[in-house]
Amino acid sequence: MTESFDVIIIGAGVVGCMVARSLSRYRLSVLLIEREADVGMGASSANSAIIHAGYDPAPGTLKAAMNVAGNAMWDTLAGELNFHFDRRGDFVVAVGLEELPALDRLFEQGRQNGVPGLRLISGDEMRRREPPINPEVSGALWAYTGGIVDPFAATVAAAENALHNGVRLSLNTSFSGFVMDGRRIVGVKTNRGELGCRWAVNAAGLYADEVMHKAGVRPEFAITPRRGEYFVLDRSEVNVNNVLFPVPTAKGKGILVTGTTHGNPIVGPTSTSMYDKEDRSSTPEGLEELWQGARKLVPSLKYNYVISSFVGLRATGNASSLSSQKPAVDFIIEVAHEVDGLINLGGIESPGLTSAPAIAQRVVDLLKDAGLELVEKPGWDPIRPRRPRFSELSRSEQALLVAQDPRYGRIICRCEMVTEGEIVAEIHGPIPATTYDAIKRRTWLGTGRCLGSFDSPRVVNILAEELGVSPLQITKKGPGSEFLVRETKSLEV
Ligand SMILES: Cc1cc2nc3c(=O)[nH]c(=O)nc-3n(C[C@H](O)[C@H](O)[C@H](O)COP(=O)(O)OP(=O)(O)OC[C@H]3O[C@@H](n4cnc5c(N)ncnc54)[C@H](O)[C@@H]3O)c2cc1C
Repeated sequence: MTESFDVIIIGAGVVGCMVARSLSRYRLSVLLIEREADVGMGASSANSAIIHAGYDPAPGTLKAAMNVAGNAMWDTLAGELNFHFDRRGDFVVAVGLEELPALDRLFEQGRQNGVPGLRLISGDEMRRREPPINPEVSGALWAYTGGIVDPFAATVAAAENALHNGVRLSLNTSFSGFVMDGRRIVGVKTNRGELGCRWAVNAAGLYADEVMHKAGVRPEFAITPRRGEYFVLDRSEVNVNNVLFPVPTAKGKGILVTGTTHGNPIVGPTSTSMYDKEDRSSTPEGLEELWQGARKLVPSLKYNYVISSFVGLRATGNASSLSSQKPAVDFIIEVAHEVDGLINLGGIESPGLTSAPAIAQRVVDLLKDAGLELVEKPGWDPIRPRRPRFSELSRSEQALLVAQDPRYGRIICRCEMVTEGEIVAEIHGPIPATTYDAIKRRTWLGTGRCLGSFDSPRVVNILAEELGVSPLQITKKGPGSEFLVRETKSLEV
């Protein structure tokens, strides 16, 4: 094995990146490997972006404990890592008298889980707080600790801060098996060769079952993806500001309507179990279900407010069959019993985003209890500085930035007001954004009404120039997603 590390983390979603950041505090050599071309390309980039209060998971579960503990960590995280987080609270809305008992049940569940400050409010108060709400609202559960976050920024920021503190990141690096010495894991096999380690952390999301099976761990455990479809709505048309959940159903938390940190409201998700871990397509039935769910909460929503749709896949553990739509098991966060040297994370579906910082802390605690020596680095730096966002600056700040670098004066994405200067800064950032989607995740370019039709040719050229490659090599999200096929003039007639 060419290189060896104290800890190798498999998977750079929000969980893997938060684990990397937490471990970067200590004198350890840590490597984070990710099979994709960027961090945060799995469930961490396609979810509802809610920091859940914690009234939803069943009391006594790890989900409940991680949710409530994780929720409390986001103010400090957002302050240190400089990403958008807005603790604006959330509402579960009962429509009609028959839904009211569900609020009492959630209130009691939240109390048992230790969620602070839950309050049941009347239908009148809900109508006052959110005027476009369904007039038949009969009451609501108000959780002031709920919030919304930019999940891409949080993931990228955690990874950048981990790298700043000495963690190494290897993108386009796919785990394929463990190197064993008896029952001890001594390394991982990847498409780039074997890498030695004392501990491996399985944070592979949808593929966590396959990773643990490679070590012979929990052979009975399977992840069944659960599709969640969404609509993105035009912020200039929709004046919903709050996070609005319906009362939960047997399928989960139901279809919410919510504002987002970058402005465009979203509606979703649906919940459908499926076989294919790579199928991120929308379905006609799903889109119809979304529409009915959205209009149940906000009847004035119209189809022509929809800008786009997207799909996220939940890593649901041990769903007993595809006909059973109900989520099955708790989070798995453990030191594997069957082998030595594996921290095993599985079934990290919702509220996995909320829980990620608490899961990371638990991983540190498990490693410590298992005997890994954790000595704090004296110079550990929790701060990740934010690169300037032109649209968020005052006129005078914008003028100053343009005077320093004229590329900040060239708007490339008109809908979201993203400049060439910001794009170039991301291409040369601590985790270089080398694809269109990597820039999109970091700047929100291409997410407005025109869906990138104005900016994408320009971004392809900027990427090609900055990376010193042909525009033909520029991809949307990695190999196989090239924008251009050939130069037009090279066509023979
Ligand atoms: C529809 C939907 C809505 C949700 N809404 C919310 C919400 O509002 N609030 C909330 O708290 N949670 C929510 N969640 C849950 C949350 O998004 C996830 O729990 C969280 O993102 C999981 O992070 P992760 O790092 O475990 O997984 P991922 O983000 O999927 O990361 C796993 C990573 O492992 C990599 N990987 C896989 N196999 C390999 C391999 N062999 N080698 C190397 N790398 C590999 C993948 O490429 C991926 O990048 C939602 C999830 C979905 C799908």
